[in-house]
Amino acid sequence: MGNGAVKHLTCQYQTGRTLGRGNFAVVKEAVHITTGKRFACKVISKKLMEGRENMVRTEISVLSKISSGHPNVVTLHDYFETTNNMYLCFDLCTGGQLVERICSRGRFHEPDAAILVKKICGAVKYIHDCGIVHRDLKPENLLFNTADDDAEVMIADFGLSRVIEEDKLHAIIEICGTTGYIAPEVYTMSGHGPSVDIWSLGIIAFYLVSGYIPINRAKTKQELYDNSMGHYSFEPVKYWANVSETGKDFINRCLVVDPEKRSTAVELLKHPWLIEEDKHFVPDP
Ligand code: ADP
Ligand code: MG
Repeated sequence: MGNGAVKHLTCQYQTGRTLGRGNFAVVKEAVHITTGKRFACKVISKKLMEGRENMVRTEISVLSKISSGHPNVVTLHDYFETTNNMYLCFDLCTGGQLVERICSRGRFHEPDAAILVKKICGAVKYIHDCGIVHRDLKPENLLFNTADDDAEVMIADFGLSRVIEEDKLHAIIEICGTTGYIAPEVYTMSGHGPSVDIWSLGIIAFYLVSGYIPINRAKTKQELYDNSMGHYSFEPVKYWANVSETGKDFINRCLVVDPEKRSTAVELLKHPWLIEEDKHFVPDP
C-alpha cells in the first residue's frame, strides 16, 4: 500500500486516520476490504484495560442487545480480538461530537436545541426500555452521523453502561461517569438507576441553550458533591434572556436532586418544550 499508517486488522479491515480518543480506546476509521464499506473501529488495548476487561464485555453485550433498534443509537457491526487488542466496529459517524458543535456555535438556537434533545430523549427512552442505563451521557459521547447541519445525533460509548434487572432498578452502587454530568445520587452512593441519564440529559440541555455547563471548578470532593446537588441558576441573564420559560422548566424537571421526583424519559417526551416546537421560543433580537 506504500502507506506505513495503514494496518490490516485480522486481514478484513484496513485502518486509517484516528477519529477520536477516549479514556480506554482509540477509535480509527476502518474500511472493510471485501465490501469497501467504511466503519469506525474502536481499538481497546488489553494491557490498558487489564482487570477491567468486563467493561468491554458489558459494552459488547449491551450493544448487541440494542444495536439497530433505534435511529439515534450507534450500531455495533463486528467484534474481534487479537493477542493485544479488542476491536469493535461501529457505524461511521463523520459529523464529529456534539461538544464540537456547541463550541463552534457558542450555543444552540433554542428550537435546534429542543429538536436535538427530543432525539436524545427518545433514544434514552429506548435504552431504558431495554433495561440499560448508559451512565456516561455527555456531548463527547453524542456523535453526528454526517457533517450536515441536520445530521442524526447518535448515542455512543456504552463502556460504562449497565444492564439492570427489573427488580433492581436502583441497585447500582459505585461512582462513575464524568464530572459535571453525574447525578447527585451517584455521589451519595445511595444506589442509582436510569434516572442518572435524565440528570445528564438536563445538563446537556442546559449546555446547549446557554453554551456552558452549570458546574464550577471543584478542588475538593466536597465541592464536587456540592456542585452536583442541583445548585444551578439561569444566570448570568445575558446567556438566558433568549431562552423560554418552557425550556427552563424542562431543565428544572431533569435536574431534580431526588431521583424519585425527577422526570422519566417518557414524561419528558410529553413536555411542551419537546412537543410544541416553535411556540415557546423567544425570537433572537
Ligand atoms: P471511550 O470509552 O474511550 O470514551 P468512545 O466510544 O467514547 O471511547 O470513543 C472515543 C471517541 O472516538 C468519541 O468521543 C468519538 O470522537 C470517536 N468515535 C467513537 N465512536 C465513533 C463512531 N462510531 N464514528 C466516529 N467517531 C467515533
Ligand atoms: Mg467516550
